[in-house]
Parts: sequence; C-alpha cells; structure tokens
Amino acid sequence: MKNYRVLLFYKYVNVGDTEQFKNEHLKFCFENNIKGRIYIAEEGINGTISGKTSDIESYKFYLRSYPIFKDIVFKEDEEDKIAFTKIHVRVKKEIIHSGLNGTSLKNGGKRLKPEELLKFYEEEKDFVIIDARNWYESKLGKFKNAVTPQMKNFREWKKTVKDLEVYKNKTVVIYCTGGIRCEKASAYMVEQGFKDVYQLDGGIVTYTKKYPNTYWEGSIWVFDERYAVDVNTEEELKYTTKCEHCGTPTSYYINCHNMECDTIIFYCHQCKKDMDYCCSEDCINALRKRPRYYG
Ligand SMILES: [Zn+2]
Ligand SMILES: [Zn+2]
Repeated sequence: MKNYRVLLFYKYVNVGDTEQFKNEHLKFCFENNIKGRIYIAEEGINGTISGKTSDIESYKFYLRSYPIFKDIVFKEDEEDKIAFTKIHVRVKKEIIHSGLNGTSLKNGGKRLKPEELLKFYEEEKDFVIIDARNWYESKLGKFKNAVTPQMKNFREWKKTVKDLEVYKNKTVVIYCTGGIRCEKASAYMVEQGFKDVYQLDGGIVTYTKKYPNTYWEGSIWVFDERYAVDVNTEEELKYTTKCEHCGTPTSYYINCHNMECDTIIFYCHQCKKDMDYCCSEDCINALRKRPRYYG
C-alpha cells in the first residue's frame, strides 16, 4: 500500500478574484500538508501537488466545493513518498506560459479519447502525431512515430507550428502530459488553417494508465522530484533513452551542476555520481557549482 498521492489537474474557467482565491488556497494547503505548485490566473487553475492520501482526498473535496471546479478532472498517481518539498501557490497571467495571447480556447482541436487514439494506431489510420512538449520531455518518451519538435519551452510553439505547415491538410493529433498545453496549442493550429486537428484528451498520463505497453514508448517526464514516471513493463517499451556516459537504458536525468552550464543530461544513477553531477570534465572543474541538497 502506497501512502502518498501525486495529483495533476487543470481547468480553464473564469476564477474571478484571483488574490482572494490564492489566499484561501494557500491556507488550505498549509493546514493540510499539501506540497507542490498551483498556478492561478483569471483564466483558470493549474496544479501538481503531493501529500498523504487522506490529505489529497481532503484537497479534492475542497477544490470541488467551488461550483466552478465541481467537475474538475484529477489525474492521480500512488507514490511511496511526497514528490515536493514546498508549496507554491501563485497568481499568474496564464496558467501555463504559452505566448499565445489572442488564441481562443473555443478554437481548440477536437478531443480524442485514449481509446480513439488506440484505434487510430490499430486501424493504421493516415494521421500525424505531434508532441507539443519540449525536446527533453520527448527524449524520455513519445508516442510511436511521433514528430518531436525540438522546443526549449512552450513559448516556441508559434515558431514550431510554422515548421509543421507541411501537415496542414493532414489529420493531426497533438499531445502533452496532461492536456493543458494542447488546449491552446491545438487552437493556435486551427487558427493557422490546419484542417483536421485533434488533441489527446487527458494527455499522456490518461492514455498510458489505460493502455500501457501499446503505442507509448518510454517514460513520462514530470516536473517534480520523481523526475520521470515509468509506465510500461515490457522491456522493449520501457526506456527510449540511454545514459549518456555508459549507455545503460535510463529514465533519469539531471541538470549539470556547473551553474554556467545547467545542461540537461541523461544519466544512470551510478554515472551521475561518477561524473560528480556534471556533464563533462570541464564542468566538474568549474568554479560556480550548484549546492547539493539531495543524493
Ligand atoms: Zn551510466
Ligand atoms: Zn555541464
């Protein structure tokens, strides 16, 4: 029995008084030992939180007690330990930084259920599947045959869509971790004249829970202390990445501890230590290195 949960959720809805909502939220999280990140904007809420199972249950009940959130969808993972050390509740302009001001959510792509995506694959439908996440996320895992734009961050989506114009008249499916990025990303594509755009409903996390060991290859990058979530049990589908030092399949990574470098590097746990948390000899000998709090 695992005693902790990680909860992923978002909803685009007019929140009203964001400051007041934030304060209520922060208070609740403090009192119930909830850790993680919650972003609140006039356009909605976006959170990843962790806590004891009973505390997470209280949180779900609490959030659903607001009429605007009574139908919010929670994606949940069972864990052995808490996945965050702190709680941040912040008011932002957007619940995810997109650089897509002016894009209307009303234009969002058609929602494709996990079972429908499975069918697309099984029936060999003529479609293009595109990763709407960053380069390092798709390196750890991706859908079979997916196009993986090499974005540094989501703000590069506009530029990415220009490069994807060859698919304008094709059936296109885009996906991200939990679905939040695709809401605006797919709307932007529709606005740019893409003819047949789908967004994977509930994102990768929902698909892989339902259909592990099928068309998802590798693991899921997460922005918390778990680093990655391994979802497949079949050996050949487990990892898409190898340790850059020794070649062992891995779903682990670090940021180089030379603060001037900070490059994401995929390592196994042993090589991380052997390389002193750095990507190269030069970085090992660098002057400004990140203080180390964890092993
Ligand atoms: Zn290694
Ligand atoms: Zn480095």
